[in-house]
Amino acid sequence: MWRMLASLAMIGVMVGASAQAEPPSRPTGSLVVLRPDRVFDGVDPSAHVGWSVVVRGDRIEAVGPSDSIKVPEGARTIDLAGRTLLPGLFDLHTHVLLHPYDEAAWDDQVLKEPLSLRVCRATNHLKSTLESGFTTIRDLGTEGAGYADVGIRRAVDQAIVAGPRMLVVTRAIVATGSYAPKGFAPEWTIPQGAEEADGVDALIRVVRDQIGRGADWIKVYADTAMGGGPVRPSFSVEELRRIVETAGSVGVKVAAHATSKEGMRRAAIAGVATIEHGDEGDDEVFRLMATRKVVLCPTLAAIEAGAKRRGYRPGVDPEPERLHRARENLKKAMAAGVVIANGSDMGVFPHGEGARELELLVSSGMTPSSAILSATSVAARVIGAEDRLGAIRPGLLADLVSVDGDPTA
Ligand SMILES: [Zn+2]
Repeated sequence: MWRMLASLAMIGVMVGASAQAEPPSRPTGSLVVLRPDRVFDGVDPSAHVGWSVVVRGDRIEAVGPSDSIKVPEGARTIDLAGRTLLPGLFDLHTHVLLHPYDEAAWDDQVLKEPLSLRVCRATNHLKSTLESGFTTIRDLGTEGAGYADVGIRRAVDQAIVAGPRMLVVTRAIVATGSYAPKGFAPEWTIPQGAEEADGVDALIRVVRDQIGRGADWIKVYADTAMGGGPVRPSFSVEELRRIVETAGSVGVKVAAHATSKEGMRRAAIAGVATIEHGDEGDDEVFRLMATRKVVLCPTLAAIEAGAKRRGYRPGVDPEPERLHRARENLKKAMAAGVVIANGSDMGVFPHGEGARELELLVSSGMTPSSAILSATSVAARVIGAEDRLGAIRPGLLADLVSVDGDPTA
């Protein structure tokens, strides 16, 4: 079913583009009535059969049972027979500047690919992402590509390239020596895939610097990562807390990469908004996350992609231990009351295949409706955009997609 996303109609985007192209003498913008079989409004867990949606310009004007909706004069009707209309999907963990590691090793992408090449490739990634139904992404780190995400976000905003709305973090923050590329002779200083900083003073400066250069969120690595060695917590609670406070004082939230239990615990105590991955979470740390209202982005699709690179064939081979554990963790997190937001780590696997995360959420025990909610209204709340995005409600932006059949089934 989700494969059908590839052929879906990007209605909101089309409407937005045509509204922009119109002469200013028609300030109300284009008027469109969408007639799908059903509407999943992003709030109600069941889809509404026989509803229509009216879009004026780039906004949703009306939604409800087709016979109760007054079709405005001059409206163009788009017939979506056999389809379900959804809010545009969110992925809260992507890397548009990365491509799958079986195409090029992560080290080589960071050290050998010119920035211009990476940016050109990113524009293709954005198009694939948009065409697969994702209209908003939180892109969690350029991985050695500096502040390129700031300019890419602007290119999307200015409709220079097609892509989803972007929230960006620029370089992300790591403790010195805790990231990669790694393994070189110690006399060389190797450029890193994220910005190193330590101690509260340096972290305050780096947080402010990244925000000043255009970061919408701060991404911090609470654990060592990418180096191949054992995972260990990197920053102290005090350091993490100061990052959260510094960003929070200017209204910026923090996402923490954390895979170790202790890294997750420190990040949750420090007050980050989201924890990414959460591999070694247990009941205790998930309860802490629920109490502290820390959201989890499980990134199951990236874990599966890693296993596939090592030869795992889904549906044929027994499930690798790490993926199995991630699924069990998701169940524990849900049982503890942790809010789950859709975040896939797309880029580690091909851009345009983001719906795979939703399939994995469902096969790990989430209902289809809950999985879609985690990629619509729940994700919109996480980024503080629920008054503009993530639901099909009058007044919200018309980021809409349609898919074949009934995704709630
Ligand atoms: Zn990531």
